[in-house]
Order: sequence, then structure tokens, then C-alpha cells
Amino acid sequence: MHYFLELFVVLVLGSVAMHVSDPGVASSLESLRIDGNLSFHDVSLAARDFGNRYRLLPSAVLHPGSVSDVAATVRHVFRMGSGSKLTVAARGHGHSLQGQAQADGGIVVRMENLRGCETKVHDGEQPYVDASGGALWINVLLECLKHGLAPKSWTDYLHLTIGGTLSNAGISGQAFRHGPQISNVHQLEIVTGKGELLNCSAEENADLFYAALGGLGQFGIITRARIALEPAPKMVKWIRVLYSDFASFTEDQEMLISLKETFDYIEGFVIINRTGLLNNWRSSFNPQNPVQASEFDSDGRILFCLEMTKNFDQDNAEIVNQQVEALLSKLRYIPSTLFQSEVSYLEFLDRVHVSEVKLRSKGLWEVPHPWLNLLIPRTRIRDFAAQVFGKILPDSNNGPILLYPLNKSKWDNRTSAVIPDEEIFYLVAFLSSAPSSSDHDSLDRALKQNDRILDFCKQAGIRMKQYLPYYTMQEEWRAHFGDRWEDFARRKGVYDPLYILAPGQRIFQKAVRSS
Ligand code: FAD
Repeated sequence: MHYFLELFVVLVLGSVAMHVSDPGVASSLESLRIDGNLSFHDVSLAARDFGNRYRLLPSAVLHPGSVSDVAATVRHVFRMGSGSKLTVAARGHGHSLQGQAQADGGIVVRMENLRGCETKVHDGEQPYVDASGGALWINVLLECLKHGLAPKSWTDYLHLTIGGTLSNAGISGQAFRHGPQISNVHQLEIVTGKGELLNCSAEENADLFYAALGGLGQFGIITRARIALEPAPKMVKWIRVLYSDFASFTEDQEMLISLKETFDYIEGFVIINRTGLLNNWRSSFNPQNPVQASEFDSDGRILFCLEMTKNFDQDNAEIVNQQVEALLSKLRYIPSTLFQSEVSYLEFLDRVHVSEVKLRSKGLWEVPHPWLNLLIPRTRIRDFAAQVFGKILPDSNNGPILLYPLNKSKWDNRTSAVIPDEEIFYLVAFLSSAPSSSDHDSLDRALKQNDRILDFCKQAGIRMKQYLPYYTMQEEWRAHFGDRWEDFARRKGVYDPLYILAPGQRIFQKAVRSS
């Protein structure tokens, strides 16, 4: 294999940053016999992510031609010992927010290029799919749909990889019933930080299995996952209703997730000081009462939208309609604000991609995304809402604010994921965009607002947890994990003792022994 050892220059964010490929790294990797290839130039893509704020250039990018390439590369770095500062980051679809899939001067493994792990659907009484850790959920879904099957638990956006979401949790409006995606995995194949290739499940190498689920990439690179499936619905009734009273909104959400017979997806979002939004909905949703809906005026009030779906097929459409009617009759939304739509299951699950295409066409996708995702205990959600919506945040013009309840009983506390210590807790996701074209200060302002929200939680003693956590100091990580920290650190010592993996999470730093 031919390697490029020469120096090269890359442009970063308009400013010129000299990036010098480390000739030592290249020559040390030269001995590796791999099926794919290593690139020492053209590495700037691996230094970008959806957050669009961090740029950490790696020394090399591995395009793995097989799972053994991943194992051989990590094993090689492990054998270099603590005399080498090389680290390895798996990069899924690079939709992290603060460089979590980047490796400063290290090796980035482009998991999407992983070959030799084709998606394989297994029919039967308890169907499942085996898929590559680098597969996008949308592609896994498309393959499963050919068999009339689909995974049970989702994220709102499907152009993310299996390894990427399983390293966090994978949450969406189905999680109240099925748990997060990490509660729907039967088996993983993992390359540990020592370069060993292991299968793991609840029965085999269980400690590694649970460590990796929600493990922020710290214990191994997920090369394959076995995911539970269910019969795929054909169609979806998609419903939105509005509230102006936060207590009624959240009580209704909690009531719905507690029912046995309920909707199949339950989420919600917050609308602060936004005009024209309901008009936008009219292109895809039908108001039940068009006249009343067109006369609806928010009067400057903060609105809370409850969003639900019910799956149906042509042969049970009538019964499902009656079930929907019965469920809606239990709710206390503003009567003129019932909006409904019917779409295919695929169209519903892939809904955010439609927005992506629109935003990309306007140059508004690849902009900084100062997102903040919090898990707030139920007993404090009203205090949180009273202070944040309308006070810290004057409007929701920078992006959606999701707010919906989840239930702890559907999460497995043996995994590495950390959630608040209450049976019901809320995901509150501030999904801001900060395009500099519209306003140069928007990023700074959004980051300051995030800080004010975090400060408020601290001062008010709200025992929240960050989802997709971002901390820079180990004390903060210890506080995040709380009494789970000891176990997290122990597992790190067992599976990645040299702290090689996922350095972009900034939890452990590879200690380099000077020679
Ligand atoms: P990357 O950003 O590439 O990687 C994330 C982390 O996982 C890194 O530390 C990386 O090193 C590690 N990693 C990647 N692949 C592997 C692997 N195979 N094995 C081990 N470690 C690995 N999340 C939700 O839960 N629910 C949502 O509804 C949701 N919606 C989203 C919508 C959008 C538009 C975006 C941008 C993100 C959303 N997310 C959501 C967050 C998303 O789940 C995480 O950012 C996830 O990490 C992205 O997956 P990725 O493949 O891009 O991972």
C-alpha cells in the first residue's frame, strides 16, 4: 500500500491552519496489512460534525474494508503502548455536536465505509436484524421493510448510524413504550480498546455489552448490532394539538404514556413567540375545523404542542379511528387546534430528512448547532418551564424545543446511559441553529442562553442529566455519572486501559509516558 508521507496544508473555517501529517504516525501504520485503506491527506472531513463548532484534525482516516481492519488498527495502537499519543475515534455519520467523533492527531475510523457486515433480516416469531455499526438507520429500515418488519424504537432523524445512537441511547416518541434504542438490542460485536474482537449480549460478555450501550464510545467500537424488530405498520395517523396551559399539557402527556391502549408515538414541543407556524403546518396537516383554526390567535401566549401518532393498516382503519377519537376525548387541548394527517410509516419516520433537504437547499444545514439536551425529573418540570420558557428564552425562533416524558422502567440501569432518579422524566431538547449569515452574534447568544439554563438548574437544585452530555473536566463527568462513576471508570480500565477510544468525549485523557 502506498502512503503519503509529505506535509500538507488544510484550510479550516476560512483561517489557514497548518496541519502537518505526522510522518511518524504514517510510517508506524505502514506495517498494517488491511483490506481497506488509510488516508493521510484529505482528513478535514473527519474534523467536522453537525455541531459545526469544533475542528480537530486527525493524522489519518481509516476506511475499513473489513471488521478485522478495525481490530488490527486498534490493536496496533494498543501495542504502541503509552509511549504513543495516538488515539482512535469511530466516526458514524458525524452528527455529534462538540467534536465527540473527532480525534486530535489520532486516527478516525469511517464506520460508514465498513464493508463485510451487510444488513441481514431474520424473520420468525421474534424477528431481528443484524446490521453494521456503521449502517445508517434509514438503510436498515429500508431493508427491514422489504420483509414487512421494522425496528421498534427510533430517533427523530434516521440519517445517523447504529453505533452512533447506541453509544448515546436513541430516544424518540416510541421510547415510552419500547424504551430507548439501547433497550432493544440483543447482541453486539465489538472491537475493544485492546483490539480484541468480541461478541457480547446479556448472556455472553455481559459487562462489555451493557458498558457499550450508552457508553459514549468509551469501551469499544461497535462493528455489528442485533436489533429487535416488529411487524411494520403501513400507515400512520399523525396528530397535533395545542395547549396554552403547561400543567394540562404535561398531565395529558403523562396520562397518555401511562395507558396500556394508547398512541404509538408521543412527543411534544414548545412554541414561544412565533408567528406563522400554524400556517406552515397547513401544507401537511388538515385542521379538523379549518374556520376555527384559521381564526386561532395565540395572543402572544406560549403554546405547547402535543404530537402523537397511531399506526394503522387499511383493514383496521375504522377501529383505529374510533380508538383515536376515544383517546382525544380524554385530552384538554384548545378545541380549535386539532390538526391531522395520514402518511406512510416510512414517510413519518423519515420526516426530519424532508426538513434537512429544505435547509440544505438554503445553506442552513451546515451551520453551527449549539444544541442543549436535558433530562429533567418530573417533579421539577414545571419550575423549569416557568423559568426557562419566555424568561431565559424570549422566543423559539432559533429552532425547535422538544419536550416529552420518558419512563425509567423502560431503561436498563446496567447500561452506561445516565438518567434522572425518578420514574418519569422529560427530554427537553433545545435544537438551535446559529447561521452567521442572519446574525453574527446568534451563536454567542445561544451559547449564553444554554449557560443560563444550566446555571438555573444548578441554582434551583434541579437534579437533571444532560443527554448527549458535554463536559470538559473529569469532576464534571464524575458528577454526571454520580454513583455510577466508579463502575464506568472500572469498565474503562478493563476494556480500554490505555484510553485510546473516543477521545473527543473528553472523559479520559490518554496519559503519554515520555521516553
Ligand atoms: P457520531 O457523531 O459519528 O459519533 C457519536 C459518538 O459515538 C462519538 O463519540 C463516536 O466516536 C461514537 N461512535 C460512533 N460510531 C461508533 C461505533 N460504531 N462504536 C462505538 N462508538 C461509536 N438522538 C436521539 O436520541 N434522538 C433523536 O431524535 C435525535 N435526533 C437527532 C437529529 C439530528 C438532526 C441530529 C444531528 C442528531 C440527533 N440525535 C438524536 C443525536 C444523535 O443520536 C447523536 O448525535 C449520535 O451520536 C449521532 O450518530 P452518528 O452516527 O452521527 O454518530
